[in-house]
Amino acid sequence: MSPENTPQASCRLCQRGPTAVATLHQHRGRGLTLRHLVLRGPLCRECGLVAWRHMTLDTALLGWWGLVSLVATPVTLVLNSIALVKLLRTPVTPAVPVFPGSWPQPASPTV
Ligand SMILES: [Zn+2]
Repeated sequence: MSPENTPQASCRLCQRGPTAVATLHQHRGRGLTLRHLVLRGPLCRECGLVAWRHMTLDTALLGWWGLVSLVATPVTLVLNSIALVKLLRTPVTPAVPVFPGSWPQPASPTV
């Protein structure tokens, strides 16, 4: 197993595991300028899929507006597709039980 595919202990966003080492990209063309964001893992499946959905949809809708972006946008979408495969191969994060801070007291009978 290569170091890139070695599972990390905790997700960088929610601190839970198991995780995948996946890098997500978001690209926006703005005429002569552009904006490119990168989110590097480790990411758990849930956080990774939420980020993938947001970053890929934003790229698909707003990435094409620029000369450089006509090339950068399809490359970004391919890179995100590779990251999606890694995230889908990651096991689902187990649910964390939530306990209330104080248990409700039963109402005392009124006479
Ligand atoms: Zn997470």
